[in-house]
Amino acid sequence: MLNVPPQAFPAPSSQQRVAVGGRAKVPLKPGRSLMDWIRLTKSGKDLTGLKGRLIEVTEDELAKHNKKEDCWICIRGFVYNVTPYMEYHPGGEDELMKAAGADGTDLFDQVHRWVNYESMLKECLVGRMAVKPIAAPKGMLPEKKVLGASAKDLTPSYDWFQTDSLITIVIYTKQKDMNAELVIVDCQDKRLRGEIIVDNDSYLVELDLDHAVQEDLAVNIAEKVGKVEIILKKKDNIHWKMLGEPLESHSTFIKRTDRGLFYRKCKLISKTEVTHDTKLFCLMLPKSTHLRVPTGHHVYLKQIIAGTEVVKPYTPVLPFLSLDFKEPSCHDGIHIYLMIKIYSCGLFTQALDHLHIGDYISVSNPEGSFKKSQVQTSEDLFLLAAGTGFTPMVKLLNFALTEVSCLRTVKLIFFNKTEDDILWRNQLEQLALVDERFEVQFILSQPTKDWVGKQGKISSSLLSEFVKRSRKESKVLICICGPTPFTEQGVQYLKVLGYSQEEIHTFTA
Ligand code: FAD
Ligand code: NAP
Repeated sequence: MLNVPPQAFPAPSSQQRVAVGGRAKVPLKPGRSLMDWIRLTKSGKDLTGLKGRLIEVTEDELAKHNKKEDCWICIRGFVYNVTPYMEYHPGGEDELMKAAGADGTDLFDQVHRWVNYESMLKECLVGRMAVKPIAAPKGMLPEKKVLGASAKDLTPSYDWFQTDSLITIVIYTKQKDMNAELVIVDCQDKRLRGEIIVDNDSYLVELDLDHAVQEDLAVNIAEKVGKVEIILKKKDNIHWKMLGEPLESHSTFIKRTDRGLFYRKCKLISKTEVTHDTKLFCLMLPKSTHLRVPTGHHVYLKQIIAGTEVVKPYTPVLPFLSLDFKEPSCHDGIHIYLMIKIYSCGLFTQALDHLHIGDYISVSNPEGSFKKSQVQTSEDLFLLAAGTGFTPMVKLLNFALTEVSCLRTVKLIFFNKTEDDILWRNQLEQLALVDERFEVQFILSQPTKDWVGKQGKISSSLLSEFVKRSRKESKVLICICGPTPFTEQGVQYLKVLGYSQEEIHTFTA
């Protein structure tokens, strides 16, 4: 919902016409882009029909507003009149109508949990539900409530101690294979937020600290015993009587997907050209943040555009492709590199392109379903990428070639329109020269007549030519990323060619 492109675009087959997860986007009428919606919300027009009043809505009242011309929807206890928004919804009116007169929280979370509806629909707010809706508001769970975890004894716990200069918070995760990617810590002013990922669940320590601390913090992880230490430096060497005041989500252990996205402001350090329309953005995390984006996972960037919060996903890459990533600047955990195509009519990417070095942008916690173990058990790895669908392949390629010894072949089949669109072509060709397991195949859909390489779009015949098991029984993993129709077609062709669902991973939001 709500990340609507300008009406002149997108092309009928582009990603922008098909929402992630295979939901078809419908063509929007002229004048119904996200920008048009933002303008309407700023026009001062009464979009709720309540002349600015907020009311308490009963379930019976909500149920009455179930028609297109009078449609109210409840999300996390707040009721919105979405009738004025109907024509602006990229998923179409019918999708919105599925929750007409009802609690749409679950439906919303399945489809676009990351969209900031509070900001987008603020002028449509009718009021709060008088009776609590079925879905619990995010982060409002009572202390130590266990959702999604199989047994209470698996709930992590914490303790703390102090020296003259340090505060150490110890989290016992009760999870054996803890690693730096499963720990996300932020300390802004006196507010500490430490999140521990345990499979599909999330444990949170969230406090308003008793006293001020210095900007930099340290995180130590005892991987084998699952102990995490967050070490804060006191600003003043005084004795703390308590750690701090618990905030509302403190000490909760809930499903990851029920945890709201958390953002921190990152500084734009550099912007480098990759191709004619794609740039490598380097962002610096605050010193008071510990965050590692796992391979194949994405983050959300948030910008205020014309007074409205707009959020889009991007997949961090490495600063360059090489089998030697020992230099500290690459793995320091402080920088996030994003390779982003700037679309001439793109709402978000145009705003990104206008950022100056030194400006700040909000970056969320990582999300994604890819697990490195999928590669660790494979003998043949095939990466099918189209355009910026190359981005999740960057870290994956590096991981596969540097850390997975059982892999016999690693093949990237990279679809682009023209030669000028190929991202990091030289680096990929260099990599193929230095590692004989790696091969790259460029396929162009709109080549010039000088192109002597492969031509075409993703098809059964192209895939049967390039995706082959190195041995009859070899274990294969095929990863696909690009415009949604590209990914969907790829999966269909691969299944026809005899590959199973378990052998295919698709990157989506
Ligand atoms: P919008 O305003 O939404 O869009 C549309 C305009 O952009 C159109 O008018 C058209 O001009 C142009 N446009 C958009 N798509 C196409 C297309 N396929 N072909 C031609 N024109 C098009 N993008 C990256 O660049 N790097 C990433 O690392 C990255 N990671 C992503 C990770 C995930 C999980 C997902 C789902 C998407 C990712 N994207 C990435 C895409 C990104 O989230 C935005 O969709 C993209 O940047 C366009 O945003 P926008 O607001 O500028 O464009
Ligand atoms: P692009 O340049 O428009 O297209 C790249 C190649 O894919 C071209 O050869 C193009 O052929 C082909 N293609 C485009 N649409 C197709 C379709 N419907 N069926 C078959 N082939 C198609 O791509 P882009 O602008 O870089 O866009 C990349 C896409 O990847 C975006 O949609 C982005 O959201 C997505 N992405 C997703 C993730 C993720 O989910 N993790 C990460 C990064 C990017 P044509 O000549 O026919 O256009």
